[in-house]
Amino acid sequence: MKIRSSEIVMSAVNRDQYPAEGIPEVAFVGRSNVGKSSSINSLLNRRNFARVSQTPGKTRTINFYLINEEFFFVDLPGYGYAKVSKSEKAGWGKIMERYLTGRDELCRIYLLVDIRHEPTNDDKAMYDWVKYFGYDCTVVATKADKISRGKYQKHMSVIRKKLGLADEKIIPVSSLKKTGFDILWDDITNTYSE
Ligand code: GDP
Repeated sequence: MKIRSSEIVMSAVNRDQYPAEGIPEVAFVGRSNVGKSSSINSLLNRRNFARVSQTPGKTRTINFYLINEEFFFVDLPGYGYAKVSKSEKAGWGKIMERYLTGRDELCRIYLLVDIRHEPTNDDKAMYDWVKYFGYDCTVVATKADKISRGKYQKHMSVIRKKLGLADEKIIPVSSLKKTGFDILWDDITNTYSE
């Protein structure tokens, strides 16, 4: 994918702040620290565009990045950070629900999980929530450089089992080694241009 332009156009909390032009969107979600910002930066060939978190769990906005003036990357707030208070968790839920309810522009959600570990109960709840709202969801397995290639299939079957996937693909990526993003880009391009 040739990135001609990428710019953040909104850091939204409320629905009336979402872009209203009807441009297609693909969204990214995952546990805090899973490597979401790094993956977005890798996709866009940028260093510090999506902010790599110093304090996990602190971002509570939905960030809309306009790519090539054609479609949006939607960076959803991370979840599952242990030190977050109950009220902060409730705030996260409200922000997410507001966005996920009837967002016609949203073509697909990419759920990011760490390739090394069995997905958490929060990951499973997130996956089920996305499906409940009726969106397509593709799982991206991050930090693939942390395991050897020979172990990919084993780890992916653990992910598959926990999330209850059938034969849907899982896309392994590494921001450190810059691998997998060509495949992820193909998936994104097919999605928003469908
Ligand atoms: P976010 O909270 O999901 O946005 O996660 P970040 O992108 O901020 O990354 C969290 C931590 O994981 C940082 O210390 C990153 O350097 C590290 N990280 C992210 N992606 C990778 C990767 O592909 N490989 C390795 N080894 N570390 C990564």
